[in-house]
Amino acid sequence: MQDTGRKIIHVDCDCFYASVEIRENPDLRGRSVAVGGMPDQRGVIATCNYEARAFGIHSAMASAYARKLCPDLIILKPCFDLYKAVSRDIHRIFADYTDLIEPLSLDEAYLDVTDCDKCHGSGTLIAREIRARVKEATRITVSAGVAPNKFLAKIASDWNKPDGLCVVTPDQIDDFVRQLPVRKLHGVGKATAARLKRMGVETCEDLRQFSLVDMTQHFGSFGSRLYELARGIDQRPVEVSWRRKSISVENTYDHDLPDIEAVQLHVVVQT
Ligand SMILES: [Mg+2]
Repeated sequence: MQDTGRKIIHVDCDCFYASVEIRENPDLRGRSVAVGGMPDQRGVIATCNYEARAFGIHSAMASAYARKLCPDLIILKPCFDLYKAVSRDIHRIFADYTDLIEPLSLDEAYLDVTDCDKCHGSGTLIAREIRARVKEATRITVSAGVAPNKFLAKIASDWNKPDGLCVVTPDQIDDFVRQLPVRKLHGVGKATAARLKRMGVETCEDLRQFSLVDMTQHFGSFGSRLYELARGIDQRPVEVSWRRKSISVENTYDHDLPDIEAVQLHVVVQT
């Protein structure tokens, strides 16, 4: 498989904003905590901890509705300067392993550690060490996925969340991808998932029944992308912007944002 040889780590802090707030105020530990806009200002939830998630609360949910689900929910206004400072501390640790860092948001990044000779050049050991160092330095837990490409590394980092590590080695790619629901594929939203379902496709294994020509006919150029993803292929490089990255997260979440994409747009990295 073409991806063999690269070592990509996707690092993702666990409920980052909420974790930082709880770190700053240990009294919040064990309680349901969210960061976001206020319920009476039509705000939405940006992040919440696992205690809050147990009530069904998730990011992009209207804060008023979240409060209904969990009347004891503590909702804190975001403090982006603090989150940025913690993010910088975490990035300093990443930089000890590679210059090839692609931040996706304040708490999430791809690292290409293919040429890193620390930890005997083992992607798994590098990820383990980064997790331990971040926890030690910032008291924030991070989950990591290690794989030969970005697509698989990102799915892997989500696999054992929170505070987890998941490694997909080249010889595991086929089994790992086969059972993946297609809605986990990058770019497959509700509409595409529904369309695929009508074609009898729910997993990547189902998707593999279709030829490249079939896929292109059904979905245009995105079809060939799906064809590759269903086989665990993703050639996208880890893209470093040499201009200083500023992360636009200043939005206060005080206006209702219609969906998760809209929230992510407000947290997207501007280059
Ligand atoms: Mg995160």
